[in-house]
Amino acid sequence: MLDSLFRPKSVAVIGASTKDLSIGNRIVKNLIDFGFKGSIYPISLKADEILGVQAYKSILDVPGDVDVVHMVIRSKFVPQAIDDCGEKGVKFVILNGGGFAEVGPEGAAIQEDCLSRAKTHGIRILGPNCQGIINTDPDVRAYCNFTFTKPDPGSISIVALSGGVAEAIHQAFAEMGIGTRMYASNGNACDVTIPEILRYYGDDQGTRVIVLYVEGLRDPETFLKVAREVAAKKPILAMKAGRTEEGAKAAASHTGGLAKEDLATDLIFEKTGILSFTDEEELCQAAVAFSSQPIPKGNRVGMITNTGGPAVIATDVLINAGLIIPPLSEKAKAVLREKLFPEASVGNPIDVLATAGAEQFRAAIDIVMEEDQIDSVYLNFVTPFFVDAESIAREIVEVNKERRKPIICNLMTDKRQWVGTVETLKQGGVPYYSFPSTAAKVLTALTKYSEIRVRDIGQVRRFDDVDREKAEYVLRKVKEAGRELLSATDVYGILDAYGIPAADWRIAADAAEAVEAAAEIDFPVVVKADAETIVHKSDVAGVVVDLWDSDSVQAVVEEMEERLEVKDLKFLIQKYLSGGKEVIIGAKAEEGLGHLVMFGIGGIYVEIMKDVIFKLTPVTKVEAQEMISSLRAAPLLEGVRGEKGIHQEGIIELIQRVSQLVSDWPTIQELDLNPIIAYKDKVFVVDARISVSNSYSGER
Ligand code: ADP
Ligand code: MG
Repeated sequence: MLDSLFRPKSVAVIGASTKDLSIGNRIVKNLIDFGFKGSIYPISLKADEILGVQAYKSILDVPGDVDVVHMVIRSKFVPQAIDDCGEKGVKFVILNGGGFAEVGPEGAAIQEDCLSRAKTHGIRILGPNCQGIINTDPDVRAYCNFTFTKPDPGSISIVALSGGVAEAIHQAFAEMGIGTRMYASNGNACDVTIPEILRYYGDDQGTRVIVLYVEGLRDPETFLKVAREVAAKKPILAMKAGRTEEGAKAAASHTGGLAKEDLATDLIFEKTGILSFTDEEELCQAAVAFSSQPIPKGNRVGMITNTGGPAVIATDVLINAGLIIPPLSEKAKAVLREKLFPEASVGNPIDVLATAGAEQFRAAIDIVMEEDQIDSVYLNFVTPFFVDAESIAREIVEVNKERRKPIICNLMTDKRQWVGTVETLKQGGVPYYSFPSTAAKVLTALTKYSEIRVRDIGQVRRFDDVDREKAEYVLRKVKEAGRELLSATDVYGILDAYGIPAADWRIAADAAEAVEAAAEIDFPVVVKADAETIVHKSDVAGVVVDLWDSDSVQAVVEEMEERLEVKDLKFLIQKYLSGGKEVIIGAKAEEGLGHLVMFGIGGIYVEIMKDVIFKLTPVTKVEAQEMISSLRAAPLLEGVRGEKGIHQEGIIELIQRVSQLVSDWPTIQELDLNPIIAYKDKVFVVDARISVSNSYSGER
């Protein structure tokens, strides 16, 4: 429970200082200035009082109980101070200073020492190398933090690994006139974790929206579990940085956060229902709307404007993002014709004209609120000098109070002159933005979230026709042989065990065996060079397709034998499958998360097309369907211009079987079924690769 951290009754500062501009001074000052409701205990060897508050020589001299202790002392003195706190019965220690794991092995050892001492005393640590927390709850007013933004009470809570980013977000809310509920930046995060803080915010009545900033997830499994629980209760808007290799490096070196491949974090966000952003400004702007507006029921926007161009820009943004601006009902149009000026446009967008006053605006807003086929309201509101803008703002606020549908406003004005208008919207909880694109993106975020929220990915299907013993046998053999790449025989054996259909095949050692195999399989066949060192067979001209007789098979095998100087060369003779479309299913192990499963357009050009979609295991039927439909080439798979589409049910089942296979066998590092040849009524794997980890220690 983090209650004593976020709602402390008393806070001590070890290393408190009379020196202006020092952290030890700043924290005491922040607590006083913010009106902390509990007791403040500066601990200082030198001073008797700091900023008018009595100071103590040791934490052990403090008369009352202490919930939270800040430590603003050199890292080498921290372990002893933690023991003192243990004796005192302190609940939380915030380690503001650096000099721990982020500086190297020596610091890491101190951090370890602190943690183990804290554990024996039952003390929890926030940090080290962190800012601390803020709670604006009027009953608490805790500013256990050395930064400078003094937020108004609000309903957005922030948690971030990086103090710098948290502060930027925090500052943005202050600038937009939106308060903050709680704030936490946990730096090295040696003990109190982001999932714990998320859960705490999730349970906090005063938090309506959670904003999260991470640079990779340390314990993805726990994060996944907690985020799913919390996201079911309230919106989580998140941003993950470190998307480029360079960015990830910067993240890894400066906060000790483990920036992993960006993909996995995005997939976790998707799987848990977190709305993810790639731009911190967009995130902040959206958060403001989330804190005051209801979530739309769908993607249909009613647009009201008193100026032309901005409506055009907004329309482009909305339509591009997949929202729609449907026509109004005849009834609505009739009402508008009566209530608006004759030149007004009564379509959607409704152009009320620049001359529209409060009455016309209100009529238009009322209509879109009434229309069944509209889920949200987008307002372009420019403030010409010849209308009473403030009274228009009051009407918008009136309607907004009912919270029936979200209202997002693009307010185009001189904020220094139209102070009353701005203030009315702000006080009335109407989110307003200075650019049409910005407002449109915010509405897009609300709408996207409405889709995430209702998304039901269904249950994971388990295929019980699989032969686990057979797969186990193959994998054990591979491990015993110390190999990492499976031979064709092993790979196809495993596919067979998991009910994954492959084109008929045989292994041949030489031309004579190849000819025999081809006759068994029946022509036409394909001959493929098979050796551990040949990874991409086409690269070495090791695949010859469409062979119709024994002579050609023999010639091909002999040619390869002569040309390819490989010791363990064998030949895979396979049924040639003509026509059909080539797709790929792949999987890749992801530390702490299971596997990423991939589906896309396959064949030898897969790296060039890069038309692939990833999901995290276990993949459900709904997710498998999404993988197909979200490809750029999805229409190709549906069938275009008289061409046949592919057997989607077959692919969906295959994706789920692969998901089960890799989930059953975490030792599998990478799996590639490329290509799978898909016809309109069946699918076959014609090439497969599996690599395993040799450090594998058993099934999951
Ligand atoms: P690699 O990926 O190692 O180069 P593949 O076995 O995938 O080798 O073969 C390369 C290409 O040859 C495939 O992408 C596919 O176009 C074609 N191909 C391979 N096997 C068959 C087959 N059995 N039937 C039809 N085409 C095939
Ligand atoms: Mg291939």
